[in-house]
Amino acid sequence: MISHPTSTSLHRCWAEIDLAALERNLRLIHASLPSHIRYVAVVKADAYGHGLHQVAARMMHSGTDLFAVANVSEAATLRELGPDWPILLLSPVLPEEDRFIAELDLAATLSTDEEVDRFSQIGQKTGRPVAVHLKIDTGMGRLGVWHEQAPALCAKIAANPNLRLAGIYTHFASPDDDLKFTEEQRRRFLTALAHCSQVDPRKIYVHADNSAGLETMPGASPFNAVRVGLLQFGILPHPNSLLSEVHTEPVFSFRTRVGIVKELPAGTTISYGRTHTLKQPTRIAVLCAGYGDGIPRAVSNRAQVLIHGKRCPVLGRVTMDQTIVDVSQIPGVKSGDEVVLVGTQGNAKISITEFSNWADTIPWETLCSVTKRVPRIYRTPLGI
Ligand SMILES: *Cc1c(COP(=O)(O)O)cnc(C)c1O
Repeated sequence: MISHPTSTSLHRCWAEIDLAALERNLRLIHASLPSHIRYVAVVKADAYGHGLHQVAARMMHSGTDLFAVANVSEAATLRELGPDWPILLLSPVLPEEDRFIAELDLAATLSTDEEVDRFSQIGQKTGRPVAVHLKIDTGMGRLGVWHEQAPALCAKIAANPNLRLAGIYTHFASPDDDLKFTEEQRRRFLTALAHCSQVDPRKIYVHADNSAGLETMPGASPFNAVRVGLLQFGILPHPNSLLSEVHTEPVFSFRTRVGIVKELPAGTTISYGRTHTLKQPTRIAVLCAGYGDGIPRAVSNRAQVLIHGKRCPVLGRVTMDQTIVDVSQIPGVKSGDEVVLVGTQGNAKISITEFSNWADTIPWETLCSVTKRVPRIYRTPLGI
């Protein structure tokens, strides 16, 4: 039998996931919300790259009311873990997937008349009404029924015995940087909700706020649930976020190792495309990770990494399996030394937001870009 490397000392590039930090974050977020607000844990895209199985299992002990995922296959993973947990599908269900709504006992997002007909057929076939969350498009221009047509669709659902309206929600387009438009979206939503006269908002989930929305969530309102993704993982939706007061901590870190160290003469060009020329004799380290692991090529010549608790600049282009950094300023770097791409080392820190800025992207995408070659190593799997 071929033995597989398991301990981190044998990994070339790995993500560390601190489940105790996740649990502390959930408690802090809960404590910051009014007690009647229910918590929808958004765990789509493999729990933002943290690993759906491990993250959801931990969340099931931390006061989650409802899980939200993108699709039926993510829902199936969750259903295996927790037979009774309510699960909401945020993305559209394809017609071929309809039967899984009943088989896995899921709540579906509903935006169109066509979906009313399809989901109602499932309810009729199984003899059990299908749970739906009516989504209202208040200005995101993506899923949901346009807000002016929402009351009519709501009436249709309410009149259909094969459907059970379990929630009504909307999604903000710019909650982090356009407060005026966010307020307009809230207003449109509340107006539409007020015209859904068949519904008692107190008996269903009424939700709009994602992580960034939490900043402007009104105290007294029909909103009785939040859908939180990024913040659970200790990442603020934008650098000046008021949510920094919640004091969540990062759950994810991204690490690799030094492959080789060598000296190169001035004038040498580094990596593909020869985009960096050494101005002086330089000691470089070749790291055991590249875009094949999730270091975006866009960070070429821009990113920094931590080695021995100090920042080292990336030289030249990131390649598929290797990245080159300047370690001239750090004595004693050797093959096998740990390198932090995102996370802390000693007193130094590279946040995922800083890393994402180097790649001209956002933390959400950075997390989704860590590839399957990268093992997720779980810290503190039990207890706190
Ligand atoms: C992903 C998602 C969320 C969570 O957003 P965060 O900004 O990560 O908190 C909430 N609602 C919907 C509909 C989503 O797709």
